[in-house]
Amino acid sequence: MLLIKTPKWLKLLYPKLLWEANAANRCIYLTFDDGPIPIVTPFVLNILKQYNAKATFFCIGDNVRKHPEVFEQLKNEGHAIGNHTFNHLKGWKTEDNIYLDNFLQADKLLDTKLFRPPYGRIKRSQVKLLQNAKQGIQIVMWSVLSADYDVAVSPEQCLDNVIKNTKPGDIVLFHDSLKAQERMEYALPRALEYWSKEGYNFGPLAP
Ligand SMILES: [Zn+2]
Repeated sequence: MLLIKTPKWLKLLYPKLLWEANAANRCIYLTFDDGPIPIVTPFVLNILKQYNAKATFFCIGDNVRKHPEVFEQLKNEGHAIGNHTFNHLKGWKTEDNIYLDNFLQADKLLDTKLFRPPYGRIKRSQVKLLQNAKQGIQIVMWSVLSADYDVAVSPEQCLDNVIKNTKPGDIVLFHDSLKAQERMEYALPRALEYWSKEGYNFGPLAP
């Protein structure tokens, strides 16, 4: 079953990971995983600009290597950058030393203290390794899942998932990926329109 809203027990199980952020100023934190790529990432940047919104992009190192111009664009537009490993590794299925190397490979390009484990899956031993390798690292999860990557979810359902579950301080997960494109491109502009009317603000996560 897909959990749209992260349950409290899971947050309590991993209290050192960041699940929500500061709710002051009615701020919500939009995050985009798996880019940067042409067309889809620039689409997101364009929509964010229209709503004066800043967000956080958890980038795959290999995509940054392939699309440096898209990466430059998102940095120049004032968004926060996060590390999402170099090859989108699944922590539970990856040996610790390989996971660390892949993180460090991406770190060379990204230089950020924000990290989100692909699939939200990371071993406690890997959390420790990363904390030792990078001073002040913040491992970021999410509190609201759009499920935009799920082809079984309709674009309307994806929009519903985010607008019905988001409150100030929430970290909302979208993807700037080809797989999520159809649902994300439907849901994101409509959600931003809805949230703007509700008086929300959209900020980057602080490293
Ligand atoms: Zn991912």
